[in-house]
Amino acid sequence: VWVRVKGVCKQNGLLILSVLAVVIGCLLGFFLRSKNLSEQEVKYFQFPGELLMRMLKMLILPLVVSSLMSGLAALDAKCSSRLGLITVSYYLWTTFLAVVVGIVMVLIIHPGGMAQKEDSEDSGKPIMSSADALLDLIRNMFPANLVQATFQQYRTNSVPIMKTPKTTVATSLTETTTRRALIYGIQDDNGTDIQNFQLDLTPPPDVVMRTLPGTSEGMNVLGIVIFSATMGENAGYFVNILTASLLCRYFPFGIVFLVAGKILEMSDPSAMGKKLGFYAITVVMGLILHGLFILPSMYFFITKKSPIVYIRGILQALLISLATSSSSATLPITFKCLLENNHIDRRIIRFVLPVGATINMDGTALYEAVAAIFIAQVNNYELDFGQIITISITATAASIGAAGIPQAGLVTMVIVLTSVGLPTDDITLIIAVDWALDRFRTMVNVMGDALATGIMAHICRKDFIKEGDGVPLICETK
Ligand code: ASP
Repeated sequence: VWVRVKGVCKQNGLLILSVLAVVIGCLLGFFLRSKNLSEQEVKYFQFPGELLMRMLKMLILPLVVSSLMSGLAALDAKCSSRLGLITVSYYLWTTFLAVVVGIVMVLIIHPGGMAQKEDSEDSGKPIMSSADALLDLIRNMFPANLVQATFQQYRTNSVPIMKTPKTTVATSLTETTTRRALIYGIQDDNGTDIQNFQLDLTPPPDVVMRTLPGTSEGMNVLGIVIFSATMGENAGYFVNILTASLLCRYFPFGIVFLVAGKILEMSDPSAMGKKLGFYAITVVMGLILHGLFILPSMYFFITKKSPIVYIRGILQALLISLATSSSSATLPITFKCLLENNHIDRRIIRFVLPVGATINMDGTALYEAVAAIFIAQVNNYELDFGQIITISITATAASIGAAGIPQAGLVTMVIVLTSVGLPTDDITLIIAVDWALDRFRTMVNVMGDALATGIMAHICRKDFIKEGDGVPLICETK
């Protein structure tokens, strides 16, 4: 039994550590809450968690851009338009289903009937101290947006220096670097040399779209292009190193502080009020229905495979989404889970997953519909059928427009509220519980994208020749 336990632990090391980190984070958070830490102390305590978020965010841009480009380049034109059409239709369909689930739940439970408006609290101004300068320094080593950071650095004429095991990169973004076509074809089987092909802006994709050796899960050439353009070609290694080693090791540590820090920050649950509680229950029930029954059933009916096994493979990604409230920040982990645990063709993942992370947010859509109708109920505002249809359409649109970052849905909800003439100020009514609901809806967002990738891989399985190194995904049927 011991040998078995050891085997399981070895195989699922990161997952187990992540679960432990969430549990420890919760315990630590509740313990420290009783200690009444000052605002400043809480801020310092949250710092390691903030760093984790920044590391994850830093990977989003190169990952999404590079994986979409290489995913598309690995498909021939006919295949990519077909896959694109099926994927987008499926995403829209599931988002619409989620909205319907949300509307039905909120109309049945009617949480707003029991609600009253409460005044929103003013958040205090951030307190600055000298220690903040040091934290800022470390913080800025992980810019949330690499390209923006580099251009800012260029403007202020500073030199970004990065140390990687292979090389120290110290380059400034020069005019010449910017003007040079910026497309670097990178291919070297030994992973030692990076050649600069200096192609035009319109190179044949199959020449350029090669994966950097040793690069896993979609960290490929376009990511390198961005880095090449901004920090010198060797900087591409930085992403690999960050994903492969640093991030994985830092993960459990960062999660403890991320979770505990949020618990320290949250408002007193007892002050939340019964009404808001019912609203939260409505959203969570809707999310459970959609995420645990509707989506897995669709996976089962289409693929005839067990959704439980599939979901087990993405558990780590779900956990990370719960901890980070960001489906985009979870993207690298979802990628890894689908590839390594669920053995999905990487060409499909590269295309379907980033598209999903951008436009497919079932959890957000469901929550937006519930929240809008809740606000209408609070205001004793009778919605007619046409307005409910309007809410379902705008909630779908607002979820598509929402970025995969914490509480983005709260912002795009303005679209839904204004479409039916509800007061946008009333968003403040639901802010108190949004930090928690955000976590659950993000989980459903990630689940939706991951299941969709499995479904697309199944639907397309006969069209494509088998995956192999450097083999493009080509339709066999013309
Ligand atoms: N946090 C969500 C996500 O990252 C977006 C939202 O609904 O606020 O997917």
